[in-house]
Amino acid sequence: MARPRYHVVATLPVAWWARRRLGNVGVWALVAMGILIDGDHLADWAWMRVTGRRDKFLSPLHSWELLALTSVTAAWLRRGRPRNRGVVAQAAAGIAFGWWLHMFQDLATNRPDHAGAYSIVNRIWHGFDRDSSGWKGHKTFHQWGNTPWWTWL
Ligand SMILES: [Zn+2]
Repeated sequence: MARPRYHVVATLPVAWWARRRLGNVGVWALVAMGILIDGDHLADWAWMRVTGRRDKFLSPLHSWELLALTSVTAAWLRRGRPRNRGVVAQAAAGIAFGWWLHMFQDLATNRPDHAGAYSIVNRIWHGFDRDSSGWKGHKTFHQWGNTPWWTWL
């Protein structure tokens, strides 16, 4: 499972590498999205606490569609501008870059049945059901929900 500490290890070198291209705001946005996006698992945690079941994958930001929308927006904000573009464009580029990095790391290490497991449309279509949306056979799926929060890191 891609725990936050592994996202830190993967994200910080990339942020260092990208610092001149993205600017300060962009780098901090990259770091935030590369690491903190997993905060959306709190939706799953809330589901598990309320129902006692691990049968849903909610995590709304683990979504190719939202990532694509953000990436298109970032590219649109960046169009035709020099390297020192506006703060909003820097932030959008950093968010998109960190998000891609996080999603590929999750895909590679969490190993869902298919990449569509991270499609919000797919999950909505399947009622956010864990097994039919791409996590069938993952016996340890969201097992962290039953452990103290400090072990999640
Ligand atoms: Zn993640």
